[in-house]
Amino acid sequence: MTKEIEQFAQLGIGEALTAALLEYGIETPSPIQAEAIPPILEGRDVLAQSQTGTGKTLCYLLPLLERIDPEKKETQVLVIAPTQELAMQIVREGEKYGAALGIGTIGLIGGASAARQIEKLRQRPHLAVGTPGRLRELLSTRKLKLHEVRTIVLDEADQIFQMGGADDVRSLLKGALRDRQLVFLSATLGPDVRGLAQREMRDPVDVGIEPEQKLVKLTQHLYFECQQRDRIDTLRRVVRHYNPERAIVFVNQADTIAEVEAKLNHLGLEARTLYGDSDKVTRATVLSQFRSGKFRLLVATDVAARGLDIPGLELVVHLDPATDSEHYVHRAGRTGRMGRKGLSVSIVTDRQAFIMRRFSRELGTEIQERAMYDGVVLDPAEADERRSRRTSKSPSAGRSDSAKAPAKPAARSGAAPSARSAETPLDGAERQGADGGPAAVRPKPAAKPAGRGPKGGKKQPNKDKGAPKWLKDKRSPQDPS
Ligand code: ADP
Ligand code: MG
Repeated sequence: MTKEIEQFAQLGIGEALTAALLEYGIETPSPIQAEAIPPILEGRDVLAQSQTGTGKTLCYLLPLLERIDPEKKETQVLVIAPTQELAMQIVREGEKYGAALGIGTIGLIGGASAARQIEKLRQRPHLAVGTPGRLRELLSTRKLKLHEVRTIVLDEADQIFQMGGADDVRSLLKGALRDRQLVFLSATLGPDVRGLAQREMRDPVDVGIEPEQKLVKLTQHLYFECQQRDRIDTLRRVVRHYNPERAIVFVNQADTIAEVEAKLNHLGLEARTLYGDSDKVTRATVLSQFRSGKFRLLVATDVAARGLDIPGLELVVHLDPATDSEHYVHRAGRTGRMGRKGLSVSIVTDRQAFIMRRFSRELGTEIQERAMYDGVVLDPAEADERRSRRTSKSPSAGRSDSAKAPAKPAARSGAAPSARSAETPLDGAERQGADGGPAAVRPKPAAKPAGRGPKGGKKQPNKDKGAPKWLKDKRSPQDPS
């Protein structure tokens, strides 16, 4: 089934761009790029579905940059993205690669000053990237004209349809050239969206890389059950145990997000928030500080679930379970990108555990239950056994909370004594451990299904293990993003 992956040049990408790609350590096209670049270059309408983090951005940017005539001072390509953050990210990629060809890029993004964008539009940038709201506004005031736009891309197309409905999309498409090219992409393109898309497209090329496999194979999916009041404590343990370089913690409601942030900071976990209602400058600052490692936990609503590509994001936590399996796919898809390993952890109450079983079923990937006991991540049965073993020794240390460590390290038969982790960045916060237990105990990898061990702040030496064949050995020492 897998055909030999060609090089960018063989796909029709010119020298200037292939050289720019090399500069960022990108040599070999990913499968979706190999499949979708040629028809997009030909000007065909394309419907492209592939998992999160498989390189869909370049799969349209590269051929469309090739198709732009830099001599012609007109906006020729319009990319629509559902959120400000994603649109900004695409603008940066457009600038990065467009510069090599003398192509100008503009962001037409909500929340920012419209006046400045209108001013910049006068220079007729070749490539425009915008969010639906701002685009609608600029189109209705005729500040933006699409009459020279040959190609319109809907990145996260299903989300864009969900935001405004099919009529809204249609009105955004109106005004472009009659024979405009359409490119729609997402990791999740259900039959309804496909139906709507096909109505707008002409004889589209349908490119799907394992469309039935929505979750990336290299991401491990776990859940921890605890009582409602212990959710933050469980989160603290999860973060401490897995010790990620960076993590996103998803919540469902913006109105409690500040409270979660305050609790996490109180525990010394360096958290900040990202949600739709905060102003654009704050959103942009928070995200750029998160990318550059100024803080470790981004507490976010689903506004951060789509498309964001954040280097070093090793863990996604669903502090509230995702509203449906599609949301789960996109949230979890912030980690485990481009052949890297990822971990997605849901924290649920006993009454929410069924949601995990439902997602497992719907996504065809098991989300496995784990329990934390004595700082070790275990299969729940194993945790129960250890707990009861301990209870029989000391009747006072009963089973109070599935996620809680006992007051003292348990006697463990056959287990190597766990060592205090010297590298745990939160050692100083030990005294805040509600249970006074050995929260920074280093987990041992003995139990069969235990999650990844901690990395002690170091880079994973083996992060390419299991990466797709086409990507292995190709990895540049420097992170391309
Ligand atoms: P998607 O849109 O499918 O979620 P992105 O376009 O955001 O994925 O790409 C994910 C990451 O992979 C980005 O950091 C991007 O720079 C990188 N990337 C894209 N194409 C390649 C490639 N051919 N080889 C290596 N890395 C790539
Ligand atoms: Mg994307």
